[in-house]
Amino acid sequence: MTNERWHDDACPRCFIGRLDVKRAAFISVHQQQLVVLPNAIAYICDICGYQEFDDSAVKALSDWLLDNQVSDPLPLKRKPRGKAHKSQS
Ligand SMILES: [Zn+2]
Repeated sequence: MTNERWHDDACPRCFIGRLDVKRAAFISVHQQQLVVLPNAIAYICDICGYQEFDDSAVKALSDWLLDNQVSDPLPLKRKPRGKAHKSQS
């Protein structure tokens, strides 16, 4: 555990709370695409809710995006949600 210094620190925003290690969604925008890491390691203040994300998780995501040259929209072909009760005519 080389990263323990992180969560032992006091919160840099409120200076009262402590940063606890939890899981949270890391959300970022990469080349105009929303990127979500749903279960990233985060350090979250127990008082004000301030969040910082683990460098290794952010770096891993960044490396993955670079390695995979993610520049095109995800090939999702889902139909938009809505009223699908129309009968075919
Ligand atoms: Zn705080």
